[in-house]
Amino acid sequence: MFDYLVIGCGLAGMTTSRVLAEKGMKVLIVDKRNHIGGNIYDYYNEAEILIHKYGPHIFHTNNKRVWEFLSEFTEWREYQHKVLSYVNGMLVPMPVNLDTINMLYSTSYNSLTINEFFNNVKENVEEINNSKDVIVSQVGEELYKLFFEGYTKKQWDLYPYELGKEVTSRVPTRSNRDPRYFTDKYQGMPKYGYTKMAENIINHENIKVMLNTTYKEIKEEVKYSKVIFTGCIDEFFEEKHGELPYRSLNFIEETHDMEYYQTVGVVNYPNDYDYTRITEYKYLTGQKNDKTTIMKEISKADGEPYYPIPKPENKKLYSIYRNEADKLENVYFLGRLGTYSYMNMDAVIYQALQFCDSILE
Ligand code: FAD
Ligand code: UDP
Repeated sequence: MFDYLVIGCGLAGMTTSRVLAEKGMKVLIVDKRNHIGGNIYDYYNEAEILIHKYGPHIFHTNNKRVWEFLSEFTEWREYQHKVLSYVNGMLVPMPVNLDTINMLYSTSYNSLTINEFFNNVKENVEEINNSKDVIVSQVGEELYKLFFEGYTKKQWDLYPYELGKEVTSRVPTRSNRDPRYFTDKYQGMPKYGYTKMAENIINHENIKVMLNTTYKEIKEEVKYSKVIFTGCIDEFFEEKHGELPYRSLNFIEETHDMEYYQTVGVVNYPNDYDYTRITEYKYLTGQKNDKTTIMKEISKADGEPYYPIPKPENKKLYSIYRNEADKLENVYFLGRLGTYSYMNMDAVIYQALQFCDSILE
């Protein structure tokens, strides 16, 4: 008899399981995939290069509690993520910063004068309602078109004005030369990889894991008191109010016989090619190898659900499922798919920790 049946061995499921297991509860984690870790899973490919199966994952947070929680299960490799964007035939820093502007326009602004530029180009937007408003109110129409419109259309098959403001708000604009993608207090990569970290999280005598198994297959087969579901919330309810849309990705992996393929971890392609970005994993992991593996991401509508789509009508449909979920006893929904929320790893972990606080009160 298990106290909890946890569906999904991603960060939401693993974090909850670990905290509950330490409180003496018996947990069974079930995942339909053939590996642990959910979307953070990494592995060594044929060229013996450590890659992330589901696209580049860089850990960053301002949340001390989350950082300390994960640090129980991994040491860290210091890593500050850098991204360049390929626009007008040039590779320029992304997020847009002082150097981006000087490179694009052959100007020589400094951190004191750059705001003259931004003040000149930015648009007056009375209320920031969507992902286009966020950008044009900071950098104006021209830079919006160069850096955001095409990328967003490729990634979501939507224009930024059709998406909630939280999507492009993830990317700041800077009046200094800081080239880092993230400025969070705590940043790094698990020293021995995410899968190793995941193994450590679930390595507890009260946790059992079953892979290659769906919720449907297991739910009548074992005895348990409560369920934590971290898969798609609409799937749990057999889509009875309609399907929630998700964005999926094709990951195209290429190994090249050269030490490095590009000069930073990620290069974004807002306007050229059908992929949105290319990741070169060796920058993220620090691995040394004569060969290198890159990954191109091509977004698509169908396939594994990776991104909930933050759009008003989808939020409305989600709230119908949420209401239904709240009425269930002993079934809880967590994680990026379970709460239909575009969360980074740290937010997923924090949500799971807070959930545990609430039931352990
Ligand atoms: P998942 O990791 O999706 O885990 C859910 C698990 O449930 C899956 O393993 C799935 O197989 C299983 N499951 C679903 N339904 C069922 C079912 N019916 N039966 C059995 N099992 C089921 N975050 C960052 O902080 N930094 C980054 O750089 C970053 N990069 C990202 C890049 C990409 C391309 C993507 C897609 C996400 C990225 N994220 C990043 C977000 C990060 O992946 C998520 O926040 C986090 O992994 C979500 O954890 P989760 O447990 O909610 O979901
Ligand atoms: N974005 C963009 N151009 C870029 C980078 C990001 O238009 O060069 C927009 C795009 O809509 C993207 C969102 O900002 O989906 C969030 O970017 P982030 O890099 O956080 O995406 P993720 O890593 O979650 O895919």
